[in-house]
Amino acid sequence: MTTTLNVPCIDCGAPIHFGDTECPACFTPVDKETLEALDTRLDAASNDYRAMKTRILEAGILLLTVGLLHVAVGGFVYFSIPEPHAEAERFVMGATFGADCAVAAGMILGAWLCRKHPRHGLAVGTVAWLVPQMLLAAVAPLTFLEGGLWKAFVIVVLVRGYVAIAQAERLRAAVARSR
Ligand SMILES: [Zn+2]
Repeated sequence: MTTTLNVPCIDCGAPIHFGDTECPACFTPVDKETLEALDTRLDAASNDYRAMKTRILEAGILLLTVGLLHVAVGGFVYFSIPEPHAEAERFVMGATFGADCAVAAGMILGAWLCRKHPRHGLAVGTVAWLVPQMLLAAVAPLTFLEGGLWKAFVIVVLVRGYVAIAQAERLRAAVARSR
């Protein structure tokens, strides 16, 4: 299947393969549509490739979901404070909600980046999710164990995403070499 994996050059019709930056015949630079068409061909030809892309997509959706949950839960806790507390206490609560929003913004940004640049997107989202927990754990080590199952689930989905990104890159490179 791999030997037939090419799309015609938009200019001269010569076959363009993965890894080409320009047409080997007329040197027209390979455009975005051609790259997407190649990707679609590989998608159609390989169940494995489709499975990898699904795992990458799932990791992106997880970032988006957890990001939104951070805002929702943080907001619910903050706005359901029944009575005005002491000034210092309100400040701490506001700062906590602010931190939740910052974490959420990082994760949602990561999910958005994932669509075009999965590796960067997952990295941004993972850092946004993990760094605050590490900081908190440095102050209060036991907090790291809170919600352990949930955290393990998030880590598994993210790691699956990273592995799938590496596998998809290897597959594209193999297709590029196999022409
Ligand atoms: Zn050409």
